[in-house]
Amino acid sequence: MKKLFFYLFTVILLTSCNAQNETVKNSTPIHSLQTSKTKLVVGIVVDQMRYDYLTRFDSKYGNGGFKRLINNGFNCKNNHFNYIPTYTGPGHASVYTGTTPKYHGIISNNWFDKEIKENIYCVTDENYNPVGTDSKYSKVSPQKMMVSTVTDELRMATQMKGKVIGIAIKDRAAALPAGHSANAAYWFQGRDEGNFVTSTFYMNKLPKWVSDFNDSDAAKSYFKTWDTYYDIKTYTESGSDLNNFEGGFEGKETATFPYDLAKLKDDNKGFDILKVTPYGNSLTADFAIAALEGEQLGKDNITDFLAVSFSSTDYIGHNFGVNSKEIEDTYIRLDKDVERLLNELDAKVGKGNYTVFLTADHGAVDVPAYLQSIHVPADYFDSKSFKKQTKEFLTKKYGASDLVEDISNNQIFLNRTKIALLDLDLADVQEDIVNEIINYKHIDKAYTATTMGSVYFDSGIEAMLQKGFNQKRSGDVLYVLGPAVISYGKTGSTHGSGFNYDTHVPLLFYGNGIAKGSSVARTEITDLAPTISALLNISFPNGAIGKPIEIALD
Ligand code: ZN
Ligand code: ZN
Ligand code: ZN
Repeated sequence: MKKLFFYLFTVILLTSCNAQNETVKNSTPIHSLQTSKTKLVVGIVVDQMRYDYLTRFDSKYGNGGFKRLINNGFNCKNNHFNYIPTYTGPGHASVYTGTTPKYHGIISNNWFDKEIKENIYCVTDENYNPVGTDSKYSKVSPQKMMVSTVTDELRMATQMKGKVIGIAIKDRAAALPAGHSANAAYWFQGRDEGNFVTSTFYMNKLPKWVSDFNDSDAAKSYFKTWDTYYDIKTYTESGSDLNNFEGGFEGKETATFPYDLAKLKDDNKGFDILKVTPYGNSLTADFAIAALEGEQLGKDNITDFLAVSFSSTDYIGHNFGVNSKEIEDTYIRLDKDVERLLNELDAKVGKGNYTVFLTADHGAVDVPAYLQSIHVPADYFDSKSFKKQTKEFLTKKYGASDLVEDISNNQIFLNRTKIALLDLDLADVQEDIVNEIINYKHIDKAYTATTMGSVYFDSGIEAMLQKGFNQKRSGDVLYVLGPAVISYGKTGSTHGSGFNYDTHVPLLFYGNGIAKGSSVARTEITDLAPTISALLNISFPNGAIGKPIEIALD
């Protein structure tokens, strides 16, 4: 009886808002860092996943993968990226920060750094060294991202007790989601290594579970034949296997099934070939499952966060295109990998104890050559001749040949020192370029940085450009190519624009704290992080501009 009274007294204490009075101050028994009832959040980003991959291949999916998330969770059917450019680095940063390149600063995968006058990569950081590999490419940190992530906020809210782990084939897809204060981010080192690795930003030595995973030759086991999961004759949702729109592999004449990876690996950079097959995703799922055990994720009442990104879908899309049999097979197999991961979560964390979201970092355009073959407007942009033409114009107009420092990511960076030296007005030069290039083929729109910094756009392509425009990092002139016009080879797909094929991506929520249902009301990618923050009862990422999707929350 005494015990029961004490228990009741404690409950009253904990639930009362005014518990902190003099008499009980010293006896407050538990200080809980629990932010919500969910023990683990699993964030899944599928690289280059268009929304219609959920619907187009619907009849091929089982009940335990995508459909489990859709039928038992919340499906935001009209979710879009809200800025340009729609690339992997900015995409992952935006998902986890709830804001856009204007604030988070990841303006592309690579960009021209105006200060050091060099092209830089979004997660390269010379202050850190590779761990688990000698590859100089693994000098990685998320420090160019200027704001906090939802994962950072969870770390801070739990006094660094909630664990955060980021996992992907691509370094930027692991490091940016995991945030600045993560326990770890791991990415895949291909070539002749085939291991998951990290950098000294996180640690000096791989933990045992990671070395054990690498030593198990998990990657090697996927050097097998990639054939279709079901009979290829049933793949009626995609184009013919043999056509002119696909890249394929070195050492194989046609981009057709089956692909003997053991045979092809030597001509295709060893372990790197796995990235361009569904097995890259399977390996990522294997490693994520190993992390659940290795890091004991979701075991206590303090919420942990596992950020997983499936990168192979992007490599395969770039190689074979949106309408290929290879893409269809890749999503059928990803559905199985998602199912496997969910089953592991049931077993290790427990049904109802975890929360999952699934989205993408951008979509992709159909291969323009294919679109042309069915008379849908599409084309290719020759960026080399565009650069030449623009430079020639400036030389003719101002008598100086070096006014352009760089042209990248559909932006022109001017040599501001030279412009000052020639006593030219920067805004005038920018405006002259806009008036010139708008006449060029496939340049649909063009704007100056001066306009971007002084006029507020609230809708359309202009607003998307503005949300992608970072005053310190972006260029002097921004241009937009026409619909389905890309600067790319004649095979495979790419992305980067503000059109629906690049912006419309899945957004699924599932599990603890999530309502059942769906909506066609427009949501934006920047709403995702605030929704998770609201679910976890923690602060929003410090630069977040989105708002929680209330109907998705239970
Ligand atoms: Zn991507
Ligand atoms: Zn094919
Ligand atoms: Zn891509």
